[in-house]
Amino acid sequence: MTMIHGCRLEAVQGDITKERVDAIVNAANQSLLGGGGVDGAIHRAGGPAILEECKKLGGCKTGDAKITSGGRLPAQYVIHTVGPVYRDGRQGEPGLLASCHRRSLEVAVAHGVKTISFPAISCGVYGYPIPDAAQIAVQTVTTFLGGHPGLELVRFVLFGQDTFAPFDAAVRQAGETR
Ligand code: ADP
Repeated sequence: MTMIHGCRLEAVQGDITKERVDAIVNAANQSLLGGGGVDGAIHRAGGPAILEECKKLGGCKTGDAKITSGGRLPAQYVIHTVGPVYRDGRQGEPGLLASCHRRSLEVAVAHGVKTISFPAISCGVYGYPIPDAAQIAVQTVTTFLGGHPGLELVRFVLFGQDTFAPFDAAVRQAGETR
């Protein structure tokens, strides 16, 4: 855990569908019509209301983010963002992954969200190298917090030690190098 411009920034191991925060972020695909991984888990736990809202959104571009209610989830909102599929890192993937985090936070702030949890966007079937993704995620959030007071908690919720460790290291590093 570290404090960045008055906001608590932390990484924890766990299931993001259980998060009691204002908003959780979903690593969706461009259709927003459901997928596997964290997307499947969020729709299963949140119930059909989320998918019904997603159907009206007309999809989402890679790097952008759109919001729905949280359905039956403890979280009030789900912010659906589409991460890049990782190829070799030279196809704009870092910029697109940063954009996912920035756009998710912009949408969150526009809806009065004060507490938000992110999964490891693009780190599952989209194949992003986890240490690289962790650096980009934490750096982008840290930069955003510098310009946007009012957020109280940004939490990365990671499935498994292999994903948790690099995110936790990046969060600690952000606290030290600020
Ligand atoms: P992407 O297509 O963006 O790679 P995935 O859903 O395949 O998205 O994976 C993103 C990350 O979410 C992976 O690290 C995966 O292990 C993790 N994940 C899957 N289910 C959950 C969950 N319930 N809570 C938190 N993280 C999850």
